[in-house]
Amino acid sequence: MTTILADERGLGNAAVSDDRVLSIEGLSVDYGFTDQPTHVLRGVDLDLHRGEVLGLAGESGCGKSTLAYAALRLLPPPGLITGGSVWLTDPSGRRRDILAMTDPQLRASRWVDTAVVFQGAMNSLNPVFQIGAQIMDAIKAHQPHSTKQQRLERVGELLEMVGIARDRISSYPHQLSGGMRQRVMIAMALALEPQVLIMDEPTTALDVVMQRQIVEQIADLRQQLGFSVIFITHDVSLLIEIADRIAIMYAGEIVEQGPAQAMYHAARHPYTQALLASFPPLHGPKKELTGIPGAPPDLARGTVGCPFAPRCAFSMPICLESDPALGRSAVAADGPDRQVACHLHDQVDDLPPALTKIWPESRLAS
Ligand code: SF4
Repeated sequence: MTTILADERGLGNAAVSDDRVLSIEGLSVDYGFTDQPTHVLRGVDLDLHRGEVLGLAGESGCGKSTLAYAALRLLPPPGLITGGSVWLTDPSGRRRDILAMTDPQLRASRWVDTAVVFQGAMNSLNPVFQIGAQIMDAIKAHQPHSTKQQRLERVGELLEMVGIARDRISSYPHQLSGGMRQRVMIAMALALEPQVLIMDEPTTALDVVMQRQIVEQIADLRQQLGFSVIFITHDVSLLIEIADRIAIMYAGEIVEQGPAQAMYHAARHPYTQALLASFPPLHGPKKELTGIPGAPPDLARGTVGCPFAPRCAFSMPICLESDPALGRSAVAADGPDRQVACHLHDQVDDLPPALTKIWPESRLAS
C-alpha cells in the first residue's frame, strides 16, 4: 500500500511506501562504563519506510545523533548499546538485525546497505588526495574486481549527479567551496547505492542559499534513486520542508512522530509545540519567536516521571510520577500514524482541562 503525503513546498511529497527498510526496536544506549551509567537512549522504537525522508529533531543532547549512530553500530566509546534490535529489510524481503551482524558482515553491509554523511563531513576529506581518488577508494573497497576505468566512470557519474562537473575529479578539497565539498561527501555516500542514508546536520556549516541548494539536491536524488533518508537536525522548520515524516526526540526518547505537514499544522506534544514556536514560520506573516523555558534534564542524574514536566505548562500530578509511553494521539482525526508520549493523551474518556486549552476544536477518539 502506498500513501501520498501532502507537502505545500513540493520537496518532501514523494510516494512513501508502507514497507519498512529499517525498524529500530527497543534501542537502548548507555554512556559510561561505571556502575551508574547514563541512560541516554531508553527503549526507542522507530521505523523508516522505503523511499521516505524521516526527519529527526530535538534540542542538542536529546539523543538524535546517538540514535542514528547506534542503529548503524557507529557509536564511539563510551557509548554502549544495552538492548534492542535494528532490522534492515532488503527489497526482496530478507531481514537482518544490524546489531547481531558479525564484524565481516557489518563491513560488507556498510556503504552498500547504509551510508552516513556525518556532521561537518565536508571537513573530513583528506586534504592531500584528489576528491576522485577518495571516492574511487570507497568503491574499490567493496568492488575489488572493478577496473580503474569503471571506477573513474562511476565517479564522473556521481559528481555530475550532485551538480559538480566531471572535470573536477582531479581537484583537491581546498580547491572546492564548502558547499561543493559537502556535495562530494554526498556523492561518496551514494557511490554504492545504499538503501538507507543517514544525514547528520548536513547543512549546518553552510550559508542559507547553499543549504537550500543542498536540500533540493537531496530531494532530487531521493526521487531519482529511491533511497530512504534519516535527516537529523535541530532546525524543525527545515524538516517541515524536506521530510515526509518527523520524529521529535527529548531526553533520549521519541515524544511525538507523524506526517511532517500534519505535525506542522497541529503539534500534539507540548514540547513539539514549543520547538515549533522557537523557529520562524515557513509562510505567512512573521511571528514573535518564543524560546523554551528551562533546560533539558541532566540524564546522568536520572529522571522520574515525564522528563519534560519541569518545563511544561500543562504538567499534571501524574506527570511527576510516571513517564508516558508513546501511543496514539487522543485526537481522533489524527489517525494511527500520529503517536505522542504525553499523559494528556491518556485520558481520552475523561478529557483533562489542559487538552481543551490546547485543542478546543478537537474531536477526541472514543
Ligand atoms: Fe507535559 Fe505531562 Fe505531557 Fe509531559 S506528560 S508533556 S509534563 S502534559
